[in-house]
Amino acid sequence: MHEMGIVQSIMEIIEQQAALHRAEKVVKVSLEFGTLTAVMPDAIRFAFEVLSRDTVAANAELDITIIPIAIWCTECSRRHVLEAYRPTCPVCDSAAVQIIEGRDEMRIVSLEVDDGER
Ligand SMILES: [Zn+2]
Repeated sequence: MHEMGIVQSIMEIIEQQAALHRAEKVVKVSLEFGTLTAVMPDAIRFAFEVLSRDTVAANAELDITIIPIAIWCTECSRRHVLEAYRPTCPVCDSAAVQIIEGRDEMRIVSLEVDDGER
């Protein structure tokens, strides 16, 4: 399960950011993953629950977005969003396509923190 490793790296960034902003608590974490990373949201949630225990992000809400695959077809000079991966253009069937989104993205989109001042 590679999600554990992914969440481990994410936790490191969260802790760095929380320390940087002197946040006492992270209340919400928004993540984005490309479809082709084959990341399973449930596995991410589970790994996060385990790894965030006793950290600033314990019990934080987790928002996971899977980015759909988009390709650029040089034949029709257009961007197409694919339901499922295929190596050719869904419109003209050309193989002169390039994946432009939904590939290996793994990022923290936002962190909501509570700085304890309320
Ligand atoms: Zn095309």
